[in-house]
Amino acid sequence: MSHSLQALDRAHHLHPFTDFKALGEEGSRIIERAEGVYIHDAEGNRLLDGMAGLWCVNLGYGRVELVTAATEQMRRLPYYNNFFKTTHPPAVRLAEKLCALAPAHLNHVFFTGSGSEANDTVLRMVRRYWTLKGKPEKHWVIGRENGYHGSTVAGMSLGGMAPMHDQGGPCVPGITHVRQPYWFGEGRFGDVRDQDPEAFGRQCAAAIEEKILELGEETVAAFIAEPVQGAGGAIMPPASYWPAVKEVLSRYDILLVVDEVICGFGRLGEWFGSVHYDLAPDLMPIAKGLSSGYLPIGGVLVGDRVADTLIQEGGEFFHGFTYSGHPVCAAVALKNLELMEAEGVVERVRDELGPYLARRWATLADHPLVGEARSLGLMGALELIDPASGERFDKALAAGNLCRDISFRRGLVMRSVGDTMIIAPPLVITREQIDDLVTLAREALDETARCLVPRAAD
Ligand code: PMP
Repeated sequence: MSHSLQALDRAHHLHPFTDFKALGEEGSRIIERAEGVYIHDAEGNRLLDGMAGLWCVNLGYGRVELVTAATEQMRRLPYYNNFFKTTHPPAVRLAEKLCALAPAHLNHVFFTGSGSEANDTVLRMVRRYWTLKGKPEKHWVIGRENGYHGSTVAGMSLGGMAPMHDQGGPCVPGITHVRQPYWFGEGRFGDVRDQDPEAFGRQCAAAIEEKILELGEETVAAFIAEPVQGAGGAIMPPASYWPAVKEVLSRYDILLVVDEVICGFGRLGEWFGSVHYDLAPDLMPIAKGLSSGYLPIGGVLVGDRVADTLIQEGGEFFHGFTYSGHPVCAAVALKNLELMEAEGVVERVRDELGPYLARRWATLADHPLVGEARSLGLMGALELIDPASGERFDKALAAGNLCRDISFRRGLVMRSVGDTMIIAPPLVITREQIDDLVTLAREALDETARCLVPRAAD
């Protein structure tokens, strides 16, 4: 059966973020079912899902309560919208719940269908805010190189992924990018080689100020960043970075947008990454873990400063989606948040599982292929290096992809971003499953080493 499905897939299906030709030659792996932290493919293999799908299945697979919430809502009201002065109970209750969980100054939410739509909404809202404030010239948004904010045109433009810009440009005007706080990539091996991580963190924050001065404060609307860069490679900034960024922004009248699409809902051991780093953002795009990925839903949590202006002075905001606050998605998201609260999932990541993963993950640092092993909460990364030279592998070897494919074959879903291996397992993973994950990761590294550096394996 899987062969005929593969043939149909090849014939008709264009996958996201995929080299269509290469996939057509190889054929895709078909995932048929899942439970807990495991997925099962059509060949009968069970894999530990070290990526929680796409960083989203925070409560793990197979939660009957979420299925029941969806079914009941489907029966009662499968669809209605929030346009034209109407709403429905799931959207209202979810809005209330989100504002209760978010930092105290965030008291409103605008719903979307995804993280990308949330960031499109951010761009519209930020520019609308400054126009209402009588400063329409404040339109520039500063993002970061290698940041990820989605695949719609605005999401792609706010993000700083050069390969996406090269294919998708010209980007939305009025968006620019500054250096990312990626010490291992740029502070250790990049153009500021061997710099102390904390000095590097401060330098990256200073780059924001330089950009503000270059553009002119009176033209800058907002700075947008992920608390920890996810798709860019699970990049935790040096400890000096966020305090220095806050200090820079406090000197200027510029909104702070913190993209919580990955870091929100427990990933870093707090409900939001902004709480972990004490960021007090004006706007927080959210998605993914909001519904544990069971149904598509996102949104923007809006701080009082912006919400008050939009509400008091706004008039109609010409923006919204058919599925903004979809009742079935909202009902599932609400149940997901209630379960996370009742089961103490976030506290467990903060107090128990995050520190445990940190200890176990750090043991991989002694592997000859590993230049750095880092983690925060339930997000981790390994930087691959060539043990012969202590430098990065030649790009042509595609060491990260090789390690990812080996890892998959051995039963662990790890993702590669260049030569950075990353994990973000479901937040309900157990200590024993973390042990298995680390063992499987080490085995994948061993086999990768045997392929790439035969002598290292002798
Ligand atoms: N922002 C961040 C930080 C993300 O990681 C992602 C998705 N990986 C998005 C936005 C876009 O979300 P979506 O894929 O739901 O559009």
